[in-house]
Order: sequence, then C-alpha cells, then structure tokens
Amino acid sequence: MAEKKQFKAESQRLLDLMINSIYTHKEIFLRELISNASDASDKLYYKALTENLNGISREDLSIQIVINKDHRMLSIIDQGIGMNADELEEHLGTIANSGSFEFKQALEKGQDDVDIIGQFGVGFYSAFMVAHKVEVISKKYGEDQAYIWESDTSDGYTINETDYPNHGTRINLYLKDNTDDENYDQYLDEYEIQRLVKKYSDYVHYPIKMDMTTSKKKEDSDEYEQVIENKTLNSMVPLWKRPKKEITEEDYNEFYKDKFNDFSDPLCVMHNSVEGTISYDSLLFIPSKPPMNYYSQDYEKGLQLYSRGVFIMDKASELVPEHFRFVKGLVDSQDLSLNISREMLQHDRQLKIIADKIEKRIQSELEKMLKNDREKYEEFFKNFGLQLKFGIYNSYGMLKDKLQDLLLYYSANEKKMMTFNEYVENMKDGQKEIYFASGESYEKIDHLPTVEMVKDKGFDILYMIDNVDEFCIQMLRDYKEKPFKNINQGDLDIDSEEEKKELEKVSEDNKDLISTLKDALKDKVQDVKVSSRLKTHPVCLVSSEGVSFEMEKVLNQMPD
Ligand code: ADP
Ligand code: MG
Repeated sequence: MAEKKQFKAESQRLLDLMINSIYTHKEIFLRELISNASDASDKLYYKALTENLNGISREDLSIQIVINKDHRMLSIIDQGIGMNADELEEHLGTIANSGSFEFKQALEKGQDDVDIIGQFGVGFYSAFMVAHKVEVISKKYGEDQAYIWESDTSDGYTINETDYPNHGTRINLYLKDNTDDENYDQYLDEYEIQRLVKKYSDYVHYPIKMDMTTSKKKEDSDEYEQVIENKTLNSMVPLWKRPKKEITEEDYNEFYKDKFNDFSDPLCVMHNSVEGTISYDSLLFIPSKPPMNYYSQDYEKGLQLYSRGVFIMDKASELVPEHFRFVKGLVDSQDLSLNISREMLQHDRQLKIIADKIEKRIQSELEKMLKNDREKYEEFFKNFGLQLKFGIYNSYGMLKDKLQDLLLYYSANEKKMMTFNEYVENMKDGQKEIYFASGESYEKIDHLPTVEMVKDKGFDILYMIDNVDEFCIQMLRDYKEKPFKNINQGDLDIDSEEEKKELEKVSEDNKDLISTLKDALKDKVQDVKVSSRLKTHPVCLVSSEGVSFEMEKVLNQMPD
C-alpha cells in the first residue's frame, strides 16, 4: 500500500473551510462532477479526432450515474481521457494557489451565501460537501494500469494501483449520514438526481444516463410492472444551439455562472447565430462585476472556441479585442477545421472574420444599452469604463471613433454621468471648448478655485478622477471639433471683453505687488498673474500647456 499523503497545508485549511463553512447549495457537487466528466470526454474525443484514433465514437462517450442505496453510494462514471497516478496526484492533491487566495478573499468579504466552489476551479472538492469518503478510480486512455485515489477528507489521500476494465474515471461518493438540518439521502433518490441534472447539466453534450425504475403496462394485460430503464436525463443540445425563443433568462444565467465560474448573474447576454461566408453561433456575456483577478496579470481574455459543438480551446484570445477583454463567452463554428492549433489560430483568416463581427456586436450592444437602458449602462461603465479609456490611450487614439461616445464623465452642473455628446449639446452659446478638471475625487475637484469660478460663470465642467483620464483625453484631443480644455492649465478664455479690460486695469494697478511676488517666488513659479479664475480663493496654481499637475503626479508614480 502506498504511503498516505497529506494535502498541502493550504489545501487542508481550504478544505476545512469549504466543507465546514459553506452550507448553501450543496447540490452543486453533482454539476461539478458532471462537468469534469464532460470535460474528460471532450478531451478524449478531441484527441481521437485530431490523432485519427480508431474505436472512439462520440456515441460511446456517455456519462453514467449509479445509485447504490445499500452502500449509500453515488457514482459518476465517464469514459473520458482518464488520469494516471501522476495526474491524480497533480489534479486532485493540490488546490490551485490563486484559487485558494481568492477563495479566502471572498470569505473575508462576507460572501457566504454564494456558490464559492464553482468559482475557483476547485469543483472536484465540492464532493466532500456531501460525502464523507470519495474514491476516484481512473485509467488513462492508452495506458494499462488503473489507479484508485481515496480520501476521507480529514487526513489526506492515498493513491494505489487497482483493476478497472476500461479507460475513463469512476467517482464513488459515500454519502454522509443525515443530520437534523441536512438531508443527504436525497442524493440517493432517482428523481432528485434527475431534477439536478436537468437543472444544472441539461446542455452537457454527452448523454447523462441513469437506471430509473418506472411502471409499465404489461402487454395484453391491465397490470403494471416495475421495469428498470437506462434513461438519458439531459437534452444534450448545447444552450447556444437551442431556439432562442425557448431559452429563458434563467437558463442563460445558470449557464453563465456554471461555465464561467461567476456567482452573480451576467449584466448582459448576447446570443447570435450568424450565417454567411462563415457561419457561427456566439453566446457572449458581460459580467456584472469584474472578476477578482481582472486587474492582475493572470486574467486571460478570450472566448471558448467550439467547432461543431466540440470544445477546442478555452481562451481564444484572438476573438475579443483588448478593449472588450471583460467579455466572456463562446463561439461555435462549423466552418473551422477541427485540428487547429494555437499557432494556426493566429493566422486563421476565418477566425479574424469572426473576431471582427464579434467586436461590432459588442460595440453595438453597448451603444444600445447606453441609449435604451442608461442605468444599466452606468453600472457597466462603473465596472469596465476604465477598460474603454485604456483602449483609447493604448491605441494612440486609433479607437477614438469607436469608443469616444461610450465614455461617461461626471458633470459638475448636472451632478451625474454625462457623455461628451450630452456635454456639447448643453454648451453655452459661444463656448468653444470642452472644459474638464482632474483630481483625486469629485469633492476635491469641486473645491478647486478655478472650478468654482468657471461654474459660477455658468459653464459645465467634466470631472476626471482616473489616472488614465488625462492621457486618454490627450489622445482624443477634441470631440465634434471642440477641443478639450483643462481649466487648470494654460490660458482660459472665458472672460467677456469688459472683464478682460478690467483685468488689465487691475494688473496695471498692482504692478508693484506682482513684481514683489515674482521676486519672492523666483524659480518656484514661471509667472505671477492677476487672475480672473478666482472667486472666494485668494490664489491658485495653474500649470502651463503640456503636462498637467495631475499627469505629473501619475507619471511620478510610474516605475522607471
Ligand atoms: P477544474 O475542473 O476547474 O479544473 P476540478 O477541481 O473540478 O477543477 O478538477 C481538477 C482537475 O482534475 C481537472 O482539471 C481535471 O484535470 C481533473 N479531473 C477531474 N475530474 C476528472 C475526470 N472525471 N476525468 C479526468 N480528469 C478529471
Ligand atoms: Mg471542474
């Protein structure tokens, strides 16, 4: 017997946490295990197609569920790719570090009512929510030796050689005993299992089968008899292939959460079937919140790629442009060759055509949302607006035409978010520039002396509080031929002729004071002027054209 191994320290803690502190939705364990079985079948089927393996047809790749009431055992069996000893060790002995990190973060935020399991790719471990002992018997396709991984959660796992007739994996769950608040027996009930499969795994494109007892009328008699039938529980048609009018919002939401490991419903769903020189179905989602790792290095953009319903690749990054990298989803096309590799993908012309159409689709969806559902759009913008600004900046303004109308900025007068177009339409007669001011927060900007004065004259000002804002504005330069103007920078031409004359006079009258100030401040300032920018404040600092104070701050923060 092989030595008993300890879960890595962190995994141990994580397991304890998970099993003991999350009581909601225990039932999702079944979805997780079926998803794994489906993934494993996909992997084998894909291998068979690309390597021309004989003897594997899609029809053989079913998933079986077996209920054994005597042993209080529930089994999930697949004929997929299987795992050898090393893989059992690697995949089931460690929980991804980043996963556990995010898991803990989520717990700290008090999100204890969510399906945390599904989020972090630790799906397998959800089995321990319902089972006191788990066995994984597996034989890797193409190898002769089968192995059994066993664990009763509390003190690690063992891996031993075993006999198993065919390739694939069998997971045996020994269900916990019922407690006062928890009924584990329900997972031994055929109808409950059927319900869970329908609810969570209906679109899995392999048949999920189970022996079910049904009453059948005997032939030539009025009597009924109990017969056992191996029934397929799921409809198998992938969600994106089903007629749109039959799909409910709930279907989309469940699908999204399951597939893309989110615990919130998506903000927006885009489902399209495109026919043409290249035909494809796409199902795209905008999350309601950025994923936890969104702003970190390990966030990977991309869409899942399917060819005729067969999964090819998880994150085909070519399919979404950088400025829409928050979009999740999948594309299924019958016109792609099955054995495309990652390298070939980059050069695939057809893929490029799909990518262009997808970009347009997202673009128009956002425009539509902005126009028809402002509240939702503002919610979107709060979460992902930064990405659009970076899009403009990183493209050196090439994306100006596409993205400028999707930006929102806070309006000083209206006290709400506003598009450039709305600003321009509300401009005062004779106003030639779009005024903006930047700072750390709306409140701080509100108190800037110049802001006070410009507002007082009845002009509106857009407030900018993101680091990237001024860099983005620099790339945009103007909107509908109205240049952007930082009101704290350079000359501000908003005075009437009379006011200008008045200012000249005041300057003239105070010549001595100004030259005294200039002498005193010497190299610290470029110039000292009498200003019309002030209302209640005695002085203000203004930067000359070029790099503004706010930009200087950002630049100083950047690593060399
Ligand atoms: P995820 O599915 O998100 O990768 P899981 O915890 O559900 O995380 O599974 C961990 C890994 O274990 C999988 O990525 C896969 O490599 C392996 N695995 C789990 N179940 C099976 C199975 N039935 N057949 C083959 N491999 C499996
Ligand atoms: Mg999984």
